[in-house]
Amino acid sequence: MFSDSEIQKFRSLKTPFYYYDMGLLQETLDEVKTHGLSKGYHVHYAIKANFNFEILELIKEAGLGIDCVSGKEIERALEAGFDPEQIAFAGVGKTDDEIKTGLDADIFSFNCESLQEIEVLNSLAAETGKVANVSVRLNPNVEAKTHKYITTGLTENKFGVNPENLPELFIKLPDYKYINLTGIHFHIGSQIRDLQPYIDLCKKVNMIQDMFERNEIYLTHVNVGGGYGVNYEDPDGEPIPDFESFFNVFDEHLKLRDNQQVHFELGRSIVGQSGNLISKVLFIKEGITTNFAIIDAGMTELIRPALYQASHHVDVLTSTKPEKTYDVVGPICESSDTFRNGISLPEIERGDLVAIRTSGAYGEVMSSGFNLREKVPAYYSDEI
Ligand SMILES: *Cc1c(COP(=O)(O)O)cnc(C)c1O
Repeated sequence: MFSDSEIQKFRSLKTPFYYYDMGLLQETLDEVKTHGLSKGYHVHYAIKANFNFEILELIKEAGLGIDCVSGKEIERALEAGFDPEQIAFAGVGKTDDEIKTGLDADIFSFNCESLQEIEVLNSLAAETGKVANVSVRLNPNVEAKTHKYITTGLTENKFGVNPENLPELFIKLPDYKYINLTGIHFHIGSQIRDLQPYIDLCKKVNMIQDMFERNEIYLTHVNVGGGYGVNYEDPDGEPIPDFESFFNVFDEHLKLRDNQQVHFELGRSIVGQSGNLISKVLFIKEGITTNFAIIDAGMTELIRPALYQASHHVDVLTSTKPEKTYDVVGPICESSDTFRNGISLPEIERGDLVAIRTSGAYGEVMSSGFNLREKVPAYYSDEI
């Protein structure tokens, strides 16, 4: 929740805007350190979730690396001062230029998603004379029980290599002189709140490790990806995901070989709860059965509700009146531009401020200029 002085400050700022709780981000990172880094695990922050420099600075200070899915993200991570040795590069459609960006920077690992990509990487690396470290992204066929747009680990999926195609890779590998196959990589989806999919993943990883061993390929790195979820319904009740239970799953279920390093790629669980979209109520429209609270933020600032039917907790910051039922909607010319339907909120008037919570991940970074709307500013709790 927000202090009176924060709300006072919000009133003086032009809305809408993003507001980041840097204290909460630090506490979250401390939990990752205590339960993950302390076990010797490597955690790469998935920079696509939020790439603001202020946020990257705290993440870098905490000792995390970066997981990128584009060449520009590699450049951003380098600009923010991350060590290339801690940068992993995934993505199903890497262009030649993006691959060259990774080669030039001598990144820790290319997470390759198809056999053809490995072949292309080998020939591009040959041109530079460098040997690229590769983790092959495998599809473990694990059901992540999340929204269909953010599940990525099933067999029929554009992501990753089907383990059935591994024998082909094993045959071709000796010809790839500029590839050093150092690891295997997995990422089963996003906003996963249940730990069972991760237990299932560990079991698949163990089986796949056996396959590599039978082919006398020694892997130094196992990257189990990210996807750990946050509590969108009750951000005050659970401001930090339970990282202790999360990392313990891998501690308990992964069968590691000697000197094998474990890597994670967490995005949402690190930055999700620290971000809020602050917006002003423009109009109240009393419908026949529904009251619409029309606010000045829309799907252009936070597309998750429109894209994934995501539901974000909404707080009214400037009213303590008895509650009424509202649909909270944005100003964009799309019916999907709706944040919540039929929720109870303290009675709202034009000019009241609302906070759309848990919008630190996949919020600001997915904003668009639809309707010629301008990019909104970001403020940080340690500056305000
Ligand atoms: C997006 C992504 C992640 C991070 O996912 P979160 O749900 O934000 O933790 C990790 N790895 C890869 C390959 C990704 O594409």
